[in-house]
Amino acid sequence: MKAKKAKTKTAREGLFPDVLYLNGTILTMAETPCGAEAVATLGDKIVAVGKKAIIRKMAGPATKVVDLAGKTLVSGLNEPHNHFGVYGIYALRMVNLQSPPLGPVTKIKDLIEVLKEKAGKTPKGEWVGGRGYDDTLMAEKKHPTRQDLDQASTLHPIFITHVSGHLSVANSKALEIAGITKDTVEPAGGVIRKDPNTLEPDGVLEEMPAQALVFRHLPPVTMDLRLEGMGLAARDYLQAGVTSCSDAGVVFPGVGNPSEILAYQRAIKEGLVPIRITMMVGVEYLLGPDGRSPSFVTGFGDDCLKIGPAKIIVDGSIQGYTGWLSTPYYVPFRGDSSYRGYPVTAPEKLNRLVLEAHKAGCQIAAHGNGDAAIDAILDAYELAHKKFPRPDSRHRIEHCQMAREDQLDRMAELGVSPSFFASHTYYWGDRHKSIFMGPERAVRISPLKTALKRGIRFTLHSDCPVTPVSPLFCVFAAVNRMTRNGEVLGPEFRLTPEEALRAVTIDAAWQTFDEKIKGSIEVGKLADFTILAENPLSVPPERIKDIGVREVIIAGKSVYKAD
Ligand SMILES: [Zn+2]
Repeated sequence: MKAKKAKTKTAREGLFPDVLYLNGTILTMAETPCGAEAVATLGDKIVAVGKKAIIRKMAGPATKVVDLAGKTLVSGLNEPHNHFGVYGIYALRMVNLQSPPLGPVTKIKDLIEVLKEKAGKTPKGEWVGGRGYDDTLMAEKKHPTRQDLDQASTLHPIFITHVSGHLSVANSKALEIAGITKDTVEPAGGVIRKDPNTLEPDGVLEEMPAQALVFRHLPPVTMDLRLEGMGLAARDYLQAGVTSCSDAGVVFPGVGNPSEILAYQRAIKEGLVPIRITMMVGVEYLLGPDGRSPSFVTGFGDDCLKIGPAKIIVDGSIQGYTGWLSTPYYVPFRGDSSYRGYPVTAPEKLNRLVLEAHKAGCQIAAHGNGDAAIDAILDAYELAHKKFPRPDSRHRIEHCQMAREDQLDRMAELGVSPSFFASHTYYWGDRHKSIFMGPERAVRISPLKTALKRGIRFTLHSDCPVTPVSPLFCVFAAVNRMTRNGEVLGPEFRLTPEEALRAVTIDAAWQTFDEKIKGSIEVGKLADFTILAENPLSVPPERIKDIGVREVIIAGKSVYKAD
């Protein structure tokens, strides 16, 4: 009697798995490989991993059996530093000014034409926005100026951003609305570039403190636009196989708005975003109005949406000449052979912010590209740990591009975890060598292998929309270190495919304190998987970026399927 009753129970009631995955390669990313051939899930969890013959026997009458047909099932891919929240807004509101292969602009005239066309369709007086221009990929090898943008329109305020996000250009109308003149006092941590002859602003604004002078006049982002943008981002991220991601710019000082957090809550509740989101929240907002009263800290939330680290920007971008270095740039900036970039957050302020956030119990994520910025971040972390010892704080350094070997020693000692923007080697590697860093420093950007040898746990990111979202591309970049011109930059720093894949799965989960619930295919963990057409550990390394994402499973449910 009892047995009969049990037999009629459905999988939903808990006796049988909901889904079995068979006949494919299973990359569990677990610490101890178990020779997994099949996986079973029930609800949002993994309930069995092991031999096919055993797993197959677990099927009940309502269990769905997925035949992987030779495809590869990997623990869900995690994008550890990107700008999911603004990605869609940029795409909806700003025209694409990137250079090939990502956009149409090869010279300043192209850029003007694209903006002119957009202005032609925009009512007079309304803002025209553009994104992603790259000065060193345009024929003139210079930033456009206000005069260039005035050729697109003088009747519309125009505001465009550099591919790095660290510089913007405004036309005369936009400068007028923002009240920026030759007498405007330059805000700390930002630069209002001037025409050397007239001393008038030339339209180029460096770093957020200066960019914010214009940003605050842009039309407000409505909740509807935020939600539409997040839906669009979810679509593109899922296509790239992403099951978890960390938004590295929530409520940024100068441009951010607390409604970004509300938008995430709504987007997830309304089913627009199935991807698990960790929010890196601007440290100033997190610490409250008096700088010492946080109302929530790292970890608050659930496995769909949570507060991640407190985010601090310490310098800018190497390819924008705003990264802060200990020795000068290779090709001097505007003829100044002593120019080394500059801090966006001065060390004294950085130390104070880090100390408060650390004391409050936050994890910290500090953006540092240049080695001088990395020094300042390590100093601040060391100081905070000395004053308030705290084991396993997992403080992060974002991008960490020019980290020196002695800095890796300090990171290992302090338990600091970098998130490397290793795709720099591909997108900017050639120009790092010939323009920004010179041959000696360029070969050792993103020193992945030597970080790994010291036992440092790190992740790999796209910084999307700076580069297109694609954890597989990050793996490709880390494994090959190939530039656009096909040169291998610093072969000794290359990772194996398995090491690189860890940085977008289990180590990315670890970096957000989630290694016990996700990041590998193990019993009891969340059923988040990415199904790939081929196995990234066995295809020729240069083909990893081209592997197709066939399906994405989050919390046991299929949320994306390639046609
Ligand atoms: Zn970023």
